Amino acid sequence: MEIINVKTGRRKEFVEITSQIEDIVRKSNVKNGICFLYVPHTTCGLTINENADPSVKKDIIDKLDELVPEDGNYSHMEGNADAHIKSSIVGHSLYVFIENGRLKLGTWQGIFLCEFDGPRIRNVWIKILKTE
Ligand code: ZN
Repeated sequence: MEIINVKTGRRKEFVEITSQIEDIVRKSNVKNGICFLYVPHTTCGLTINENADPSVKKDIIDKLDELVPEDGNYSHMEGNADAHIKSSIVGHSLYVFIENGRLKLGTWQGIFLCEFDGPRIRNVWIKILKTE
């Protein structure tokens, strides 16, 4: 298993990690397979979405804030209940196909770590399964 560290700079932020994952795929020498990604955290997540227009990330973060406000009425007393909920909405794992040694993503797609309780240093666990 490979692990990458992602340093986040704000409480809520989407950090693109596509190129780091591509590096790991390249080094694996796997031509055809599946790349699994997982974050072992309860207040961040992973998603795939547009990496061309940064306002898409902002819209997702703003809409999640509207649905799950930081200052809502929660039982969890640590002050980050919204981050736990957003983490479950977004999810903790992804997979991407590998074809011809490269991640098979759509033209406008990028892989993002979704920080909801930063700034922190996060780990992404990566496992590559060879299918050829
Ligand atoms: Zn908590």
